[in-house]
Amino acid sequence: MHRLIASPFLGKHLVLRPGSPSGVRIHENRYEQLRAATNEDVSPPSWLHEVAEQAWNMTLPSAGLGETLLVREPTTYGFARASWEINLGCDYDCEFCYLGEKKFEGLPWEGKRRLLEMIRDAGVLWLQITGGEALVDREFPAAYEYANQLGMMVQVSTNGSQLHKEPLLDLFDRYPPYRLTLSLYGASEETYEAVTRNRGSFDRFTRGLAAARDAGLPVKLNVVVSDRNAHEVDAMRALADEYGFPHQVYTNLSPTINGNPNPLASQADEYLSARSPFKGCNAGHTFFHVNPHGVASICKVGRDPHVQLMIEGIDALPRLGAIAESLHLRTGGCSGCQLSGSCWTCRPLAKLYQDADADRSLYCQHGGK
Ligand code: SF4
Ligand code: SF4
Repeated sequence: MHRLIASPFLGKHLVLRPGSPSGVRIHENRYEQLRAATNEDVSPPSWLHEVAEQAWNMTLPSAGLGETLLVREPTTYGFARASWEINLGCDYDCEFCYLGEKKFEGLPWEGKRRLLEMIRDAGVLWLQITGGEALVDREFPAAYEYANQLGMMVQVSTNGSQLHKEPLLDLFDRYPPYRLTLSLYGASEETYEAVTRNRGSFDRFTRGLAAARDAGLPVKLNVVVSDRNAHEVDAMRALADEYGFPHQVYTNLSPTINGNPNPLASQADEYLSARSPFKGCNAGHTFFHVNPHGVASICKVGRDPHVQLMIEGIDALPRLGAIAESLHLRTGGCSGCQLSGSCWTCRPLAKLYQDADADRSLYCQHGGK
């Protein structure tokens, strides 16, 4: 397995180390030098020795550049990031789950391989594998390994229920993720399991946390606040600190991806916060999302219109740019609003709330006036 990746990245060129969040920008000439050299059993250039030493305190071998370095080819598609729901099935049953019906289905292995190759060919350097619960998919280890072998930097989003298991810890040791993002649902067994509706889950989760800490895995915790665990927000922060993991607190629940309002009933009202104004985003231009069936959309929220990657192939991807533009221009659902000219709400997000018939104050930048 390669120890470094050299890749184009949005008009620039980077050298990255799998598992490390930091990268080093290099000049295009140096990227081309590496690109020309990796087919040969040559020594790494002296500047690459210095880069590896300075950035990662890493000593490169004196020969065999082809084995040490994987060079990603340039692409015309212009994407840099993607997220992929490998499967929507989950071993938890959180009542605020934004996925709604969590069907345990996805692509067969050959489809997963072909999809990952398309994501690579689109230029994606940072890939988030998520679910449902990604780690309960039997083909997660193979897919994760293959994404790494293709030269992508992989982040995994998980509820952490499987992280205590040796085979997964071995996998993350062999192919270090650049981040493992774990949701945190409570600081006590009673509260955690009231949210997850899965008996024994708190014990498995905390064993996974301890194992990840001992293995030095780059865990980040997402504290998800609902009416069932709001009384433990401080305790959840303290638990994150106890394990030494950074955390972020998420307090606003949203409708399901199909526009069902059910999760909103679990909102902890005292924690509802104003959304930051939408300042534009690159969804559909430099990143995209793929569901378990290989359907690509601009992001996890704006799922329609979409393109069928497994049927149409990678050449369908550039259509996402025009889809994103059209979604951001749409003002349907806010008709009659006198303030639409100064509206700073992400339109796909607004549409999700409108489909759910949710109170306009939950998404409108003008407070629903
Ligand atoms: S762990 Fe995540 S995917 Fe699973 S039920 Fe809870 S919110 Fe949904
Ligand atoms: S929800 Fe809106 S702001 Fe977020 S990625 Fe999608 S389009 Fe962009």
